[in-house]
Amino acid sequence: MTRFPLLGLCVLFLLTLTVAAQDETQALQSRTRPAPTATLNSGGLVLERYFTTLIQGQVGLLHLTGDNIQAARVLFRGREYPFMALDGDGYYALVVADIDAQVRDYPLSVLAQTDTATLITFEMLVTIETAGFLRLNFDIPPNLAYLIDPQIERNEYARLDAIIQDIVPERFWDESGFTLSIEAPDTSGFGQYRILNQTVLVRHTGWDQSAPSGTSVRAMASGEVAFVGQLDIRGNYIIINHGWGVYTGYAHLSQINVERGQTISAGQIIGGVGNSGRSIGSHLHWEVAVNGEWVDGRLFPDLWLP
Ligand SMILES: [Zn+2]
Repeated sequence: MTRFPLLGLCVLFLLTLTVAAQDETQALQSRTRPAPTATLNSGGLVLERYFTTLIQGQVGLLHLTGDNIQAARVLFRGREYPFMALDGDGYYALVVADIDAQVRDYPLSVLAQTDTATLITFEMLVTIETAGFLRLNFDIPPNLAYLIDPQIERNEYARLDAIIQDIVPERFWDESGFTLSIEAPDTSGFGQYRILNQTVLVRHTGWDQSAPSGTSVRAMASGEVAFVGQLDIRGNYIIINHGWGVYTGYAHLSQINVERGQTISAGQIIGGVGNSGRSIGSHLHWEVAVNGEWVDGRLFPDLWLP
């Protein structure tokens, strides 16, 4: 008879322990290396995969280790991704399921050159899953309606693409990794199809957070300022280069506190929230690009990075 209440207590105690352990895991998740989801061996090299499937807009991490690696690259969806060397920790590559990727399985190849003449290869299939992007109507007021011209949109993306395609082999972010720039409610998500004034279809490559004008905008990670300036759609805009092909952008600012080329620490105030450009209310539009593609910035800080 008395064994049952005791058993109950033991179960309760175990449950409490489990919950405590989970909380700790969550708190440390971003900075503690998770177990790889798959480990492959080929020609004396080891490839670790840190993702299973990829959602449209999601980034996946690959880790290659072994002796005498001279160079390595990933081929995925017709694109080539570089592996970046990290002192004493092999090579890392960030692969992207881009916003427009069709939902299906894709072959992914890793090609590595060691000091022997043989090319070492790894082959796998990667499933891209739907992100379920929303389709929404947006009304742009008459005074800003000239900014829905598709040519202005194309020109602005072309200008930004020229910046985010520059992949530097140095890693500029530090042990604090990536965090959100401001704490404020989300008002609009990544990947949305937006029909402006019922005529022009555009994509939303970032996230919007509503905040009062002048709210401090902080760098999501340490890096180097790659662009500051005024753009038609994004208004006052900053791009920070975090190295390894990772960039963050901050739009519609009321003020800019940094200069191009400046070194930035994680969390440093770089500007203020505003309403400049094609904006209809004070908010921060922020966006993340990886290896030349706009990715879902909300998934990015959760990604474990070395
Ligand atoms: Zn936005």
